[in-house]
Amino acid sequence: MKTVSLTLKEVYNLSKKTLLSNGCDEETSDILSDLIMKAERDGSLSHGLFRLPAYVSGLKSGKINGKARPDIKKISPSIIKINGNNCLAPMALNKGIPELVKATKETGVAVLAITNSHHMAALWPETEAIAEHGLVAFACTSYKPAVAPAGSIKPLFGTNPISFAWPRKNDTPVVYDMATASMAMGEVQVAKREGHKVPLGTGLSKDGKETIDPGEIADGGVLLPFGGHKGSGIAMMVELLAGSLVGDNFSYETAARDNNDGGPPSGGEFILAMSPEKTSEKDWDNHASEFFCKMKSMGDVRLPGERRHKNRLDKGPRNINEELVNKIKSLS
Ligand code: NDP
Repeated sequence: MKTVSLTLKEVYNLSKKTLLSNGCDEETSDILSDLIMKAERDGSLSHGLFRLPAYVSGLKSGKINGKARPDIKKISPSIIKINGNNCLAPMALNKGIPELVKATKETGVAVLAITNSHHMAALWPETEAIAEHGLVAFACTSYKPAVAPAGSIKPLFGTNPISFAWPRKNDTPVVYDMATASMAMGEVQVAKREGHKVPLGTGLSKDGKETIDPGEIADGGVLLPFGGHKGSGIAMMVELLAGSLVGDNFSYETAARDNNDGGPPSGGEFILAMSPEKTSEKDWDNHASEFFCKMKSMGDVRLPGERRHKNRLDKGPRNINEELVNKIKSLS
């Protein structure tokens, strides 16, 4: 793969120019470009510049409104509701998270229920931002069907990511952020192209047989949730929390309403924040530090989020796929 070297500022500028010339206003372009730059900075590559062409598709078709502002409503002291009005999800998060943090510090626990926004990104930016305020965070969102529930051979769940972040007083939060699908379809396609096998449990062929041949999964087959019926239960939970609970669509409803322009469809997101200061009434931070030390002393163990946080320390340029950069430049 041929790459070009871009500083993080150049990543931001390239994103911003592209978004501004495709219907986003200044504030939306700034918020999304900052997120894309941070994804490249942290090595969260599947959610950096790589997603920009899809955002542009959604903006061009008019599905996404790059100038929309979300409506924020406080339903109760601990429930904040956001109607994104078809904005990009980072815009809804930018307005909603400060309100969620404020409510959680007052009440000890609060929910941010987001509807009608367009999510395609990683979830760690929101959970980590909440944990940086000393709060525990959980977030999830659904998408369009790609994953079969345990027992079925047809897709119903999205790849339905979940993220959890734990605050630390003198360190970066501990954050995990993962799809509930065994593997992204993009990775299955890469394995097919490169002639690799995939682990059993990744997906089924079109006739419903378990297979380690990525081609059989990619060509009319279906992905499976991670961990068999246990992952299937978690993917179901995501559908319910990010769909029915927040007042938005299930993945199959999202697919039925989407215009298939390649951009992220409209959907919901569920975010929960909790205050350990209020629930623990003890020295929760030292207590958790002891736990993390014990965990890390047990062999080749690392904490989730550590890879990203280590990448973040490198302030230098990043090598970006040249073909992708040229494609993005052609969009302005
Ligand atoms: P990975 O499997 O790469 O990583 C999942 C989590 O596990 C990360 O928090 C990672 O931390 C951690 N981790 C990885 N290896 C180890 C290890 N050896 N020890 C401890 N922790 C480890 O992520 P996925 O491929 O499942 O998901 C990638 C991204 O895609 C996520 O950000 C997710 O939100 C996003 N996504 C978004 C969707 C959407 O619709 N918006 C749909 C599906 C996925 P670290 O980052 O430090 O490596």
